Formats: sequence, structure tokens, C-alpha cells
Amino acid sequence: MRIVVLGAGLAGVSAVHALLRDGHQVQVLERAAAAAAETSFANAGLVSPGHAFSWASPSAPMAMLRSLFKQDQALRVRSSLDPAFWRWGLSFLANCTQRRWVENSRRLVRLAKYSQQSLSEVVTQTGIDHAATRRGILYLYADQNALAAARQQSELLLAEGVEVVALSTAEALDLEPQLAAWQERTAGALYCPGDESGDAWRFTTGLAAWCAARGAEFNYGATIEALRARGNRIVAVQTDRGEIAADAFVVSVGSHAPALLRPLGYRVPIYPVRGNSVTFPIREGDRPPRIAGVDDGTLTAWSRLGERLRLTSTAEFSGYANLLPAKDVEVLVARARAMFPNGADFDQASPWSCLRPMTPTGTPIIGRTRHDNLYVHIGHGAMGWTTASGTAQMLADVVAGRNPVHPMAGLDAGLIL
Ligand SMILES: Cc1cc2nc3c(=O)[nH]c(=O)nc-3n(C[C@H](O)[C@H](O)[C@H](O)COP(=O)(O)OP(=O)(O)OC[C@H]3O[C@@H](n4cnc5c(N)ncnc54)[C@H](O)[C@@H]3O)c2cc1C
Repeated sequence: MRIVVLGAGLAGVSAVHALLRDGHQVQVLERAAAAAAETSFANAGLVSPGHAFSWASPSAPMAMLRSLFKQDQALRVRSSLDPAFWRWGLSFLANCTQRRWVENSRRLVRLAKYSQQSLSEVVTQTGIDHAATRRGILYLYADQNALAAARQQSELLLAEGVEVVALSTAEALDLEPQLAAWQERTAGALYCPGDESGDAWRFTTGLAAWCAARGAEFNYGATIEALRARGNRIVAVQTDRGEIAADAFVVSVGSHAPALLRPLGYRVPIYPVRGNSVTFPIREGDRPPRIAGVDDGTLTAWSRLGERLRLTSTAEFSGYANLLPAKDVEVLVARARAMFPNGADFDQASPWSCLRPMTPTGTPIIGRTRHDNLYVHIGHGAMGWTTASGTAQMLADVVAGRNPVHPMAGLDAGLIL
């Protein structure tokens, strides 16, 4: 089939690879000048089944309510006048029961495990070097209450076959001595030896080049304006360069899917959640961390990506503006210095900000729609680097009419919109 993939982030390019493997002829439309220019550009780099929890949890409503009134670096709600936020928020709230949290998190963990395997197969097949570190991921907790809650949550991971080891602060420091300066702020840790980290941008651009060399046509600088329907089929995609017809269309435009699909009658449950990162070069003599991690107390993630150290933080509900306040950068640079005093050249910070395409459940939306030849591969939220390789495989299975290899309990990969 001739298939047009809309968007060249992690989701789009992973889909291109899976569709090529099935023998399809694939064309990609992307408004940026290259692949992975938006949310897949500078994320935290964690491939983390050990952190695959839904954000919609019993404690989330109170945290969001507090952040409406408080200046918080980690979580901020600034969209209180946006009706789309309230629609999304109500659905998010409905998922904040313990039962739904367990269901959604279990699906996410299963998907993350399946996807990590898919990612490894893609890397083996293509030979892409994405500066992977396969030494596990450390999860730090600031006090005994947070640690006890995390241990309880980890029961779900253990039940799904994810290895989780509880560590004292001293044991965590044995594993990662570069955290010495942060020990006063750590009450203990969990360690997931099977988790890994790597550069999502290097992977996505490498995979796009690999696919282009094998016949996929990448049209950069092409802005998608609308999908043209006739009856229950899509006949073409309208771009600023004219219309492009195909047998099938895959929407992978991340946070922008609701606006693209709304004129066709779809109300897509995705809302953008802004996040920040700052990346520093590692110079000779620096002592960066060996193992990636997440500090739960400040909701800061870090990873070493080749000769660079990256820290990320912040979940801000502020619509599509994607503005990065100077203060956020200052806070993140100061935190990097405090956590890893000799870790990198902190005077050379490259700041970045982008929008996570979040669904209320935290699980992505993959599969068929009411239009016969329109497919979606969207909503990867805070976990797209961890899940996109697996969801791309599932998408290709659905397009081919196969049952997805991965039986993702509860996530209907059939008609989903
Ligand atoms: C701060 C931060 C840290 C993160 N850390 C992690 C992590 O550690 N681990 C993890 O698993 N995930 C992480 N994520 C999530 C992950 O980065 C995302 O889930 C993933 O990048 C989403 O990929 P995507 O392809 O759906 O979206 P995108 O990468 O945004 O791709 C969508 C593409 O569509 C294009 N597009 C949109 N509209 C149009 C249009 N009209 N015309 C043409 N092109 C268009 C865009 O230019 C873009 O290239 C993080 C995200 C953030 C923000």
C-alpha cells in the first residue's frame, strides 16, 4: 500500500520503519526541517518500564489543585480558562481511582516492556548508535513516606516481571558515587536494573536516515493543513505544498492531533503538558553520573547521553504556547550543579522546552478510526521514548490486518476513534 505518515517524531519515524518492514511504500510529511525537531528532540532519555506509571493516581487531584495556587517548579496548572483543559481534566480525574490507576499502569508497564524489546530489535537491525547506557535506572526518594509509597507501587512492577531492588542511600551511592552531593536529600532508592537510557533524537534521526536509504520519502518543510474525506475514506492530505493522495494515512503529529482530527468529527483526548530540559557538554576531567535516574522529590530526571549530561523537569499545563521561562532554566541549571557538582560544563547550558502529548490515562492511542483508511499513532505522553517502538509494531499489525503481536490488555488496537 501507499501510506502517508503525518509527522516525523519518535511516533512517526518508528511507524515508518515498521510499515517499511511490511513492504509498504511510505511517504512522510513533516513541517520541520528534520526529524525529531519537536517533543522527540531533547527528552530525558529514559527507557523505563520501571517508571511506567499512569499520572492519573489517587494522589494526583490534590497535587494539581495545590499547583493552581502555588508557584511550583515541578507541577503547574496555568490552563484554568481553557475548555479543552477542563474536558481533558475531567477525564483525567475519572482515572484517578486506585482501580483505574492499577489498570492504566499495568497496561503501560506491559507496553513499556514489549516496546523495550522492539527497540532493541530495531537497534540490532539498523545498527543505530544512540549513546545507550544499559546499566539500569535509579529512582531516588526524599523522605520515608515517599519511599514507602514507591515500594508499595513497585509491587505492580514486580507482578509484571520488572526487576526492582530497594536500596539504602549508602547502597545507591555505591552504585552511583556521583550522587554524593545529593545524599542529604535522599532517604533511599529503588533500582531497576533492566531499565536503560539513550538519546531519542539520535535514534529518531538515525532511523529516519536508515528508512530514507531504503525507499521511504521524507518531505520536510511541509505543513499539514487538513485531511480531505470522501464518505468514510480519506482521499488526500492537504499541505501548504498541495494535496497528496494515498491508500492510507497515519496521524503521528503528537500534541497537534486534536486540531487536525477535530474537523473530521473526532474529539481526541490529548492535552499538551510542557516540560523542560537542559543539556551540558561533558569535558575532560568532569565526573558525570554513570547511571540515569529520577529524583522523585524534585521530579527531576537525568541521563548521560554520550558526551553530554541532560536534566529534565516540570509538568506544566499551559496550553500550546510552549514558552520557556528564564527562571525554569536557572532552577534546572542550579539543580544540575547541586546534584552533580563536577558532572559537566554547567556554563554551557542548552535549554529546551516541549509539549508532551498526554492522554488522561497515560496510555497512547493506536489503531483504526471510523474512516476506513485513517490510522492514529498518538498520545505517547511522558513515555514516548519508552513505548514508541512497540506501538509502531502494533500499528503496523493493525494496518496489515494482523492481531497485534502484543496483546495489550484493555487497549483496543481495533477501532479506537
Ligand atoms: C521534558 C520531557 C522529558 C521526557 N522524557 C522522556 C523519557 O525520559 N522517556 C520517555 O519514554 N519519554 C519521555 N518524554 C516523552 C517523549 O519525548 C514523547 O512522548 C515523544 O517524543 C512524543 O513523540 P511524538 O512523535 O508523538 O511527538 P513529536 O516528537 O512532537 O512529533 C510530532 C511531529 O509532528 C510534526 N507536526 C505537528 N503538526 C504538524 C503539521 N501541521 N504539519 C507537519 N508536521 C507537523 C511536528 O513537527 C513533530 O515533528 C519526555 C517528554 C518531555 C517533554
